[in-house]
Amino acid sequence: MKNKTILITGAAGYIGGTFCYEALKIGYKVVGLDNFSNSNMKYINYMKQNFGDKFIFLEKDLRENNLHQARELKNNIDCVFHFAALKSVPESEENAELYYRNNVGGTENLIELMNSLSIRKLIFSSSAAVYGNQKTQPIKETASLDPKSVYAKTKKMSEGLIDEAVKKHNLCAVSLRYFNPLGSHKDKIITDNVQNESGNIMAMILRVALGLNKQLNIYGDDYPTKDGTGERDYIHINDLVAGHFKAYEKLNSVSKHEIYNLGTGDSISVLNLIKVFEKINNIKIPYKIANRRKGDLARCFADSSKANNQLNWKAVYTLENMCKDAWTVLENEVN
Ligand code: NAD
Repeated sequence: MKNKTILITGAAGYIGGTFCYEALKIGYKVVGLDNFSNSNMKYINYMKQNFGDKFIFLEKDLRENNLHQARELKNNIDCVFHFAALKSVPESEENAELYYRNNVGGTENLIELMNSLSIRKLIFSSSAAVYGNQKTQPIKETASLDPKSVYAKTKKMSEGLIDEAVKKHNLCAVSLRYFNPLGSHKDKIITDNVQNESGNIMAMILRVALGLNKQLNIYGDDYPTKDGTGERDYIHINDLVAGHFKAYEKLNSVSKHEIYNLGTGDSISVLNLIKVFEKINNIKIPYKIANRRKGDLARCFADSSKANNQLNWKAVYTLENMCKDAWTVLENEVN
C-alpha cells in the first residue's frame, strides 16, 4: 500500500494535516489540496521541506469545477481522504448557505472529479453530530440520524451523496463518524486553529490557557448528567489517524459504503475535562456557567465495537494524553 499515491483534501487543517504528515512519514506519496479557508501555509511548507517530491500541494477550492484539469491530480491516485469542510456549528447556523455550498457542494464536486479521474476509493470525515439527540447511549452506527445543526445536516447530506455514488458508479467508500478529536500528533507539529472561535471545547480551553480569553464559558450545568455539564466522547488525534489507515486497508475488501464510529466509548463531562487539563498541565482554567446553547446535547458517546471488530482498531490514548498533547504543542510554539 505504501508506494501508493493518495489525495488528501483539507491537507492544511488540523486532522487532514496530521493525517497528511503521518502518511508522508510512513512512506505514502501525497497530493494535498486546501483553499486555506481555515488554515495557512505553515504546515504545508513544513511538509514540503521535510518530504520533498513525495508531497505535492495544490492550493484550490474543492468547489472549482475545472479541478480535473490540474496536472497534479493526474498522478494515479489510489484513494481520496476527504477532510475539507467548514466545521463551526455556530457559524453554520449563521451562514447556512455557505455551509451547504462548501461542505455538500464540495463533496459533490469531489465525487465528480473522482469519476473523471477514475479514482475508486474514498474515505470521508463524517461526524457524530449526525446522530443528534439519542436516547440510547452509547450510540451505534445503526441509530436513526437526527442532525440538529446545519453543520450536522451537511455531513448527513454528504454521506447521502456518497451512498448514491457507490450505487451508481464503481466507487467504494468508508465514512468515519468522529466523536470529539483532541490533542496533537506525537511529533508536536500540528494543532487545531485556536485563533478562530469555532466553539470547539479544547480550542476554547486553549484560548484561556494562552491568555486570549479570560475565562471559559460552560454552556449549561443543569443537564441530566453526572455533574450537570454536557458529556462527550473525546478521542486522541493519533487514534483517529490510525483509524483512517485501518479504513484504507478495509477498502480493499468492501465494495460499498461502510460507516464506522471512531470514539473511545467514555462519556466525559466538561468539568471533568477541565479538571484533567488543569492537573496534567498545571494551569488554572477559570470558567463561568452560562446558559445552555441551542442545539447542544446532554450526552453523546460512541459504541465503536463495529470499528473494533471489523477494522481491528481501538482507541488507546487517554484523556490525560489528549490534554497534555493539546497544550505542549502550543507551549512549544509560543516559547
Ligand atoms: P480544519 O478546519 O482544521 O481543516 C479543514 C481544512 O479544509 C481547512 O484547512 C480548510 O481550509 C479546508 N477547506 C475547507 N473548505 C474547503 C474547500 N471548499 N476547498 C478546499 N479546502 C477547504 O478542520 P478539522 O478539525 O481538521 O476537520 C477535518 C474534517 O473532520 C472536517 O470535515 C470536519 O467536519 C470533520 N470533523 C472534525 C471534528 C473536530 O472536532 N475537529 C469532529 C468531527 C468531524
